[in-house]
Amino acid sequence: MSVVMKFGGTSVADPDAISRLIGVVSRELSGDRGPRISGAPTVVVSALSKVTDTLVKVCGLAEDGNGSGAAQALDALVERHVSIASAVTTESRASVVASVKAEFDELIGLVHALAVLREVSPRSQDAVLSVGEIVSSRIVAAALADSGIASAWVDARTVLITDAEYTSAAPDMTATCDRVREHLAPVQAAGKVAVLGGFIGATASGVTTTLGRGGSDYSAAIFGACLGVGEIQIWTDVDGMLTADPRVVPHPRLVEQLSFHEASELAFFGAKVLHPSTILPAVDKNIPVRILNSRRPENTGTRITAEGRPDATGATGLTALACKRDVTVVDITSTRMLMAHGFLRRLFEVFERFKTPVDVVTTSEVSVSVTVDDTRRLDDIVEGLRHFAEVSSERDMAIICAVGENLRSDPAAFARAVNALDRVPLRLVSQAASRRNITFVLRNADVPEAMTRLHDQFFGRD
Ligand code: ADP
Ligand code: ASP
Ligand code: MG
Repeated sequence: MSVVMKFGGTSVADPDAISRLIGVVSRELSGDRGPRISGAPTVVVSALSKVTDTLVKVCGLAEDGNGSGAAQALDALVERHVSIASAVTTESRASVVASVKAEFDELIGLVHALAVLREVSPRSQDAVLSVGEIVSSRIVAAALADSGIASAWVDARTVLITDAEYTSAAPDMTATCDRVREHLAPVQAAGKVAVLGGFIGATASGVTTTLGRGGSDYSAAIFGACLGVGEIQIWTDVDGMLTADPRVVPHPRLVEQLSFHEASELAFFGAKVLHPSTILPAVDKNIPVRILNSRRPENTGTRITAEGRPDATGATGLTALACKRDVTVVDITSTRMLMAHGFLRRLFEVFERFKTPVDVVTTSEVSVSVTVDDTRRLDDIVEGLRHFAEVSSERDMAIICAVGENLRSDPAAFARAVNALDRVPLRLVSQAASRRNITFVLRNADVPEAMTRLHDQFFGRD
């Protein structure tokens, strides 16, 4: 059993970050991080920091027909990547620089065509975005080789097989694991570090897809599950899973251990440090996930396992808080349908028809309120619901989710949470049957205040 090590955008942002990555991989190889899990590690990398955002902008410019704006943005990306690739000193330098240039040449041609057509389909967008991970992984593979670590670049599109749901594709685990056996296992058996781009895959017929924003974590877990590794490591820019988003609450604490369930809830409700689907493949194979800081590799980070915290009956009822902004609440009221069977089925069928997931649901006798994150089809949904109910919607809302296995055994926690939010207008409140989370829906504008108060209440001020 070996490990999969995933490095996010900031962990491959520039030559210094790449040097730190090399240090982390060589420590893993030398067994410095504790008992060595045998077999060479597999490395999964994101695009360099901010590159995917830039490529999304490039798609927007192309769609607007602004070919010169798009070309300008791409030129800056070429320069940044070529300069980082040029830091490789050995004979692999010429080939890595050439391959980076070739990938961008092809991209520039594609974007030019898209700008002429003024059309960027989800499929084309995936082709554009994938270049970020293709070039970053090529550079990292060359940099590892440069430092004397036997490594091989593997094109993730030949390994991670997905459906054709462009921009949010789902993996076909059977096909992917077959490809892993074919393309990754031999590299590992030869004692080499395989380096792949995260986030990207391809359909069975070879068309490029992506797993959705932040999807490199998910790729790492997919490869880890297929390889049957001993640990999936997510190397990022924070010490691990924190008790709250550090951009919202000033001094969150490190959560040293948590359960798969808790991690899934936190990720789903906004803890960006982990893509929400990452935990699924890990759960299937019961593989621990560890979140680590690439700037402080000596730290132990956060360990996510089936059992979670050993002190599950500890002092505080909560493990962590998460928040997700910019959701929309849809209120559906129907006195006519009062007590009618089949009402909820009809209602949710409308959301299903427009492929829109619902996050939080609360019901009263005559009304149902739900939150949705993806509002692209909201008008169609409202129209569909109006056939049998009154509908109103409210944008600029947010979800705060307080998560903890201990909530089950701490009946006072709910009251403490609600009291902490005294006078903050709450739109919806729900506690799931798992009793692992309490969810509040409130205005975007109230998030900082509400998060800080909840954090003070459950984790103290510092
Ligand atoms: P990467 O590029 O390494 O994938 P991300 O930006 O996707 O990194 O995720 C790390 C960021 O997640 C952190 O910098 C932090 O701002 C944010 N974050 C949000 N909630 C949490 C949380 N509960 N714990 C840790 N980080 C969080
Ligand atoms: N580069 C992709 C993104 O920014 C995937 C990732 O970093 O996980 O969304
Ligand atoms: Mg991420």
